[in-house]
Amino acid sequence: MMDGIKIGLEVHCQLTNLKTKLFCGCSSDYRNKEPNSNVCVICLGHPGTLPKPNKKAIEYAIMAGLALKSKINERVLFSRKNYFYVDMNKNFQISMYETKNSPPICSGGYLDISYEGKIKRIRIRRIQLEEDPARLVHIGPIDISPYTLVDYNRAGIALLEVVTEPDISTPKEARIFLQKLRSVFEHIGIFDGGLEGAMRCDANISIKEGARVEIKNISSFKEVERALNYEILRQMNLISKGEKVLRETRHWDEIRKVTISLREKEEEYDYRYFPEPDILPIHITQELIESIRLKMPELPDERAERFIKLYGIPQYDANILVSQKALADFFEECVKLFNEPKTISNWIISDLLGILNNRGLEIQETKITPIAMVEMLKMIKDGIISGKIGKIILPEIVETGKMPSQIVKEKNMIRISDEDFIRKIVEEVFMENEKAVKDALINENAINFLIGQVMKKTKGRGDPKLVNEIVRNKIKEIKLSDINDK
Ligand code: ZN
Ligand code: MN
Repeated sequence: MMDGIKIGLEVHCQLTNLKTKLFCGCSSDYRNKEPNSNVCVICLGHPGTLPKPNKKAIEYAIMAGLALKSKINERVLFSRKNYFYVDMNKNFQISMYETKNSPPICSGGYLDISYEGKIKRIRIRRIQLEEDPARLVHIGPIDISPYTLVDYNRAGIALLEVVTEPDISTPKEARIFLQKLRSVFEHIGIFDGGLEGAMRCDANISIKEGARVEIKNISSFKEVERALNYEILRQMNLISKGEKVLRETRHWDEIRKVTISLREKEEEYDYRYFPEPDILPIHITQELIESIRLKMPELPDERAERFIKLYGIPQYDANILVSQKALADFFEECVKLFNEPKTISNWIISDLLGILNNRGLEIQETKITPIAMVEMLKMIKDGIISGKIGKIILPEIVETGKMPSQIVKEKNMIRISDEDFIRKIVEEVFMENEKAVKDALINENAINFLIGQVMKKTKGRGDPKLVNEIVRNKIKEIKLSDINDK
């Protein structure tokens, strides 16, 4: 990756753990409902109706601010962001603005991410509350869709917008930042990032002295990384041809995997922000902030520290585990059932995560339970199956949720500890590998080769200790008989 890349993110997180929308009593659970059924006169923006701010949403925003080490402002105003678009039937969005007289709910702050073994600090510019617009449904790609369908069920859902400084320098860092942010918000219990569309992201990117391009509405971490990679290539290509990068807003097309130009980038003054006259300024007292501070749950970084101290796992493992709340929860559940934290963390990080990444799944989307995971680890420890068999059956546990004991029984994978049986296979292997047997009399590598051949014949099911013993004894016998012959 080249130098001179500056990426800033604007992340919109729905406060999915609220019961109601931001300014009315409609349910915040709008998913899988008949279009335009979860609405009222307030969230439909009928003239003469008055928005009533959700107190819990303010508290959640304060929690988010405390978690990101932001300054919580004392007097907060909602503002109108004026624009004309079908997703906003009032022609303005109730949002927050960032001026001295009209501060957002939180200013400043930071989030540390760990990237390639280093800690990088990403500064936060502001955190604000605003209403989610309606959901637009396009037929095919946005630029050629013959019409737009509008569903207001989502209109008025509480959004927390987190704006970063342009401290991110690679698409990968952007992805790690978003993952960590999600983990923080899940740990403080304001949000469930697993819900479709619960976390959406706009990314600003500029290369060297080029213009800043904004990519709108990217729906997942992976897509953010892809969209940014695409955009870097596109801009570098323009620069290398001596052309200018235009300051504009682009849309990420997830199906075609390209960004397309939507419009020239609007400036802030285009929105004609002004204070929302229908909502009084909100006063946030020190008492309220302190009472929330006292109730703050454990954050991912604190949890990682606890994992290191309490379970003796390395920092590297701890960082990976807490990067997803569900993963850290899974780990701790396993440790409760089987007190070998390092074994568990090894299996989660090098095996389970590999399987999940391959399938593009998160742990909570699969059927594996801590009970099944631990049963497998205990079977390995007790010598009932080998670690190798464990690696073979893990994907099936993830996919089906079956207990390992059941899988190994069905597939006849239980470890062979029958001495006579293994002796017979050792005989076979020795017959078939005369040269290796000769070498084995003087060469340790050849012994290991023979052991490997025996294990192969048992399809990994031979008890390694037993196989080892029998092969070595056999070599000793041959050595002895050689001496006797002489
Ligand atoms: Zn409503
Ligand atoms: Mn916004």
